[in-house]
Amino acid sequence: MAHQVVVIGAGIIGACTALALAEDGCKVTLVEPEEPGGPQAASYGNGTWISPGSIIPVATPGLWRKLPALLADPSGPLVVRWKALPSHLFFLAGFLAAGSTRKRMAMIAEALAGLLAGAPAQYEMLAVKVGRVDLIKRNGLLHTFSDRAAFEAEASFWRLRREHGIRWIALDDDALRACEPQLSERYRFGVLVEDGAQCVDPGAFVAQIVATAKRSGAEQLRARALGFDFTPAGLAAVRTPEGSIPCDYAVVAAGVHSKTFALEVGDQIPLKSERGYHAVIKNPKIQPCQAVMPADGKMAINMTPAGVRIAGQVEIAGVKAAPDWRRAELLVQHAVNAFPGLGNRDDMIVDRWMGHRPSIADGLPVIGRSRFSRHVIHAFGHGHVGMTAAPRTAEIVADLVAGREPSVPIAPFSPQRFPYYHYNPLS
Ligand SMILES: Cc1cc2nc3c(=O)[nH]c(=O)nc-3n(C[C@H](O)[C@H](O)[C@H](O)COP(=O)(O)OP(=O)(O)OC[C@H]3O[C@@H](n4cnc5c(N)ncnc54)[C@H](O)[C@@H]3O)c2cc1C
Repeated sequence: MAHQVVVIGAGIIGACTALALAEDGCKVTLVEPEEPGGPQAASYGNGTWISPGSIIPVATPGLWRKLPALLADPSGPLVVRWKALPSHLFFLAGFLAAGSTRKRMAMIAEALAGLLAGAPAQYEMLAVKVGRVDLIKRNGLLHTFSDRAAFEAEASFWRLRREHGIRWIALDDDALRACEPQLSERYRFGVLVEDGAQCVDPGAFVAQIVATAKRSGAEQLRARALGFDFTPAGLAAVRTPEGSIPCDYAVVAAGVHSKTFALEVGDQIPLKSERGYHAVIKNPKIQPCQAVMPADGKMAINMTPAGVRIAGQVEIAGVKAAPDWRRAELLVQHAVNAFPGLGNRDDMIVDRWMGHRPSIADGLPVIGRSRFSRHVIHAFGHGHVGMTAAPRTAEIVADLVAGREPSVPIAPFSPQRFPYYHYNPLS
């Protein structure tokens, strides 16, 4: 008999998972309180990069030495609000520890490489399936550096990427300008990740995946999931204010809000929000032809149907604190530094957005069966790479529900990799 599966959350992870399960013959109910792909979700406002090369953790060996300068720079890519510091100390320590040695960094890179490999091709196929090929651009992702020396400081990371099959080419000044003629001359060296792609309107894409899942038989319930109902025989339903939805499997894909669901099934997950921002210049004077990430600003600058979207920044401030729109303004400034032809700030019409990367300190997502129920499967915590990792994550979840061996090793993503927590809701 077909499995009855409730998927909690319709961001990119929940949407792709609902579609994969429906195509696998499951009876799927997707529970989401807002519009799928709406601005409540990280999947709406991200940097649009489908980036198989994003396998290096944000914290790399020696970062702790640069941290004081990074935190002291008000225009830098990382900010910690002092009020949030006590509740994030373990997260920040774990974050630094994760990439503190070459060995640890290599382990993370290997795990992520499996998850992200082939993502651009997966998106291309998905785009055909959902009828939005216009939203996927496959002309590579460009990283820019002030000069070759700045690249050399990161060259070992690029070699590691190459070892994992990520194809990239180095561009000297002339080649860089041929690739992106409108780029500021402050950048004299580049790396083009040829396999990289973009989803230029991730919110619309998520909505379209959900629509396609519904055409494949999935149902959507506009409600907030509250938790699980168990009987002595196991999982019975997912509770919502609209009533309980009977199921024999549940998938937790509620992004940064997944923690309480995980706790209910015995997994204490150190999930935190790494807040990020985007700004969209709606009336740019030029249109960059490449998706660009300048190494100094660490943000993605992309042409999208709505205008030039600049996305980035890591702000540690918790889920509830109000946005600090100065972070979005910084993104605009960085974009103008990179593309002076974009125009004057005073003449620009700019949309701003803030959202929550669902992040784990070690830079790896949580994908796998819960501690107390094999029938509750976690799929969250994708941090900086959720857009890229979504199709493979969905495939893994569908494999687990069907009892198949996933195509990539999932031990590194285990929900049980964190210290044991003594809480058994079934006892
Ligand atoms: C500024 C920024 C730039 C980024 N750039 C990139 C990039 O270029 N490439 C990349 O790969 N990744 C990028 N990311 C990361 C990526 O966007 C996230 O990892 C990914 O969107 C997470 O998807 P998700 O489905 O897990 O969570 P979300 O997209 O946040 O979706 C979670 C959904 O769950 C719903 N939900 C919450 N609580 C409940 C409940 N109780 N019941 C039911 N539903 C619930 C929410 O309403 C929401 O719709 C970026 C993130 C940010 C913030």
